[in-house]
Amino acid sequence: MKCFYHPEQDAVGMCPQCGKAACRDCMKEVDGGILCKGCIAQRIQAVQAEGKAVLQDRQATIDRATRRLKISKTVFVVFFIFGICVSAPMVYHTIFSNDPQLPGLFRIVVVPGIVLGSAWTGYVAWSFFWGFPAILAGLRRMFSKIGCLVVLNPVMWLILPLVLYFITAFVGTFYSIFGGGLSQYLKTRRVARGEV
Ligand SMILES: [Zn+2]
Ligand SMILES: [Zn+2]
Repeated sequence: MKCFYHPEQDAVGMCPQCGKAACRDCMKEVDGGILCKGCIAQRIQAVQAEGKAVLQDRQATIDRATRRLKISKTVFVVFFIFGICVSAPMVYHTIFSNDPQLPGLFRIVVVPGIVLGSAWTGYVAWSFFWGFPAILAGLRRMFSKIGCLVVLNPVMWLILPLVLYFITAFVGTFYSIFGGGLSQYLKTRRVARGEV
């Protein structure tokens, strides 16, 4: 019997995977078994393809996280500018009005106040952007566990939308504004940097 890869060489055995006869040079030990060089090349290719798929998956996750970070910043800027625009007439009025009834302190305070107020508006929108999806995902996980209870009970169908609405609104608001939004932002930023 001759080697499949070297027709001039005598084979020393058959590959247990593909059954081809192979010489000493063409048989190698891999993972405790013996394979011919064709099968080894195939296995390496498979491992590389798997590694590539994992890398692509990881890159997609990083891209998604990066995109969300960008959108959240845009949300902040848009709402900040919105706040400034809405208060612009008030700024104009307090600064340029000749009304002696308008105390000087108010004039001094109104501009930084409006900037801070607009920043707060931006922050609230920004924190909702991060907090609400997290709360909704949490609810989804919760209801997927008790899903059968919900489906079987028609009364739940009446109560559920209300309960969901209030839970999401209240919990979501508190969670988002008091740090939940920030923690989601930081988590996504770690993902975008490839640290997770
Ligand atoms: Zn083989
Ligand atoms: Zn050979």
